[in-house]
Amino acid sequence: MKNLFRLIPSIHDILHSDEMQKLKQEQGLPETFLKRRVNQVVDDIREELLKNELSFESKNEALIVIQNRVVHNIKKYLSDRIEPVINGTGTILHTNLGRARLSEKAIHQVVQVAKHYSTLEFDRDSGERGSRHDLVEELIKELTGAEAAIVVNNNAASVYMVLTAFAKNHEVIVSRGELVEIGGSFRVSSIMEESGALLKEVGTTNKTHLFDYEKAINDQTSLMMKVHTSNFHMVGFTDQVTREDLVELGKDHHVMTYEDLGSGMVYDLTRHGIGKEPLVMDVLKSGIDLVSFSGDKLFGGPQVGIIAGKKQYIKQLKKHQLARVLRVDKMTYAALESTLKQWLQQDLNIPTIRDLLITREELQKRVKLFIRRYYECHHKGLTLKEIPLKSMVGGGTLPEIELDSYGVSITSRHLSATKLKSKLRNLKPRIIARVEQEQVLLDFRTITPEEEVIILKKLVEID
Ligand SMILES: *Cc1c(COP(=O)(O)O)cnc(C)c1O
Repeated sequence: MKNLFRLIPSIHDILHSDEMQKLKQEQGLPETFLKRRVNQVVDDIREELLKNELSFESKNEALIVIQNRVVHNIKKYLSDRIEPVINGTGTILHTNLGRARLSEKAIHQVVQVAKHYSTLEFDRDSGERGSRHDLVEELIKELTGAEAAIVVNNNAASVYMVLTAFAKNHEVIVSRGELVEIGGSFRVSSIMEESGALLKEVGTTNKTHLFDYEKAINDQTSLMMKVHTSNFHMVGFTDQVTREDLVELGKDHHVMTYEDLGSGMVYDLTRHGIGKEPLVMDVLKSGIDLVSFSGDKLFGGPQVGIIAGKKQYIKQLKKHQLARVLRVDKMTYAALESTLKQWLQQDLNIPTIRDLLITREELQKRVKLFIRRYYECHHKGLTLKEIPLKSMVGGGTLPEIELDSYGVSITSRHLSATKLKSKLRNLKPRIIARVEQEQVLLDFRTITPEEEVIILKKLVEID
């Protein structure tokens, strides 16, 4: 083994080999960067030699092995870390896969605004300085019926801002049944602590009554907050106070009311027989002072938090220092404006909504055709079968809803389902599938017809 160690060329010799110098030139790599990679590869190789996992015959062979590894290592290092994937999981608002995709119109406006100077803070009429906070406010007002609105970085930021601006060092009354954790990292109680607001929990996990809120009101109370229990669905002996009753109570005691709605639904899905997610406009109609929701959940737009409601409060938020801290970028405004207009003009060509509304029958047709095409390619390495599936909405929305879906199950004669799944994940573009009962499943709900063509090509190449 010692002999093998002696076959490893010096770092200096590796660095100054023709191959490495060529790589450095071609990729425009700083010397220090290349050296770090070479060191890392040599360390790895030493370790493998110690473990008898590697061996070579000559100094030249060692050099070639090292060079190849460095090239591979750097290629991987420089490859895109955030890259498009094909979501075959059927989960529409997949938080790990970027939640909502943007519509074509939104993408177009983002590209235009990213490429050129824009009217981000420029008044179109006067040519004077404008405010980004006014860019889309009229659209949000029209769509939701709110008196005013402000846009911040995400909905967690909305909650933080509302609590900081209106409840710092004061008490906020929240029902114990609504103190939920969403997506593993969003907890109302933690955000509240961070904002300096004091949480006053009322009721029990399964039941909270209006008198629980009423008893908790004192001269330290600044806010009564409702939280939509997004990813959490309670059944059985449960009771929560309606927002109408809470608003009434707030008015009687001059206490502000706020609802964190999570998913901002602006389109009635019940007419398609899907769920009963509260609509932003209905929440506002109840007379609530403020409501906030995410832009990239059921709204189907970019990551933002939208706070809408009474003008006097929004005015205060716009003047708050946090408005600057939590403000969003021009590309985000571009995507948001487009998406808002699509909702306003009833243009449902929004990927999230398309995925949500597509029927099992339509999906089944596509799946059948897909399988037929695969077999027409005369490749027999994989076995493809059609399979009825249930898809989830995801993103902590509509937890009780399972959408009837359709997909393909894939099995291989040579590979286990887990191996095949990881093989698909390592393709370019990566295809993200799930495994159930030793089959790889691709749910067609979250796959576009264009992506189907890509998947077909990749599957044919696999066997
Ligand atoms: C998703 C969600 C949030 C967090 O929103 P982000 O846009 O992810 O920051 C907050 N509250 C509720 C009720 C949610 O469902």
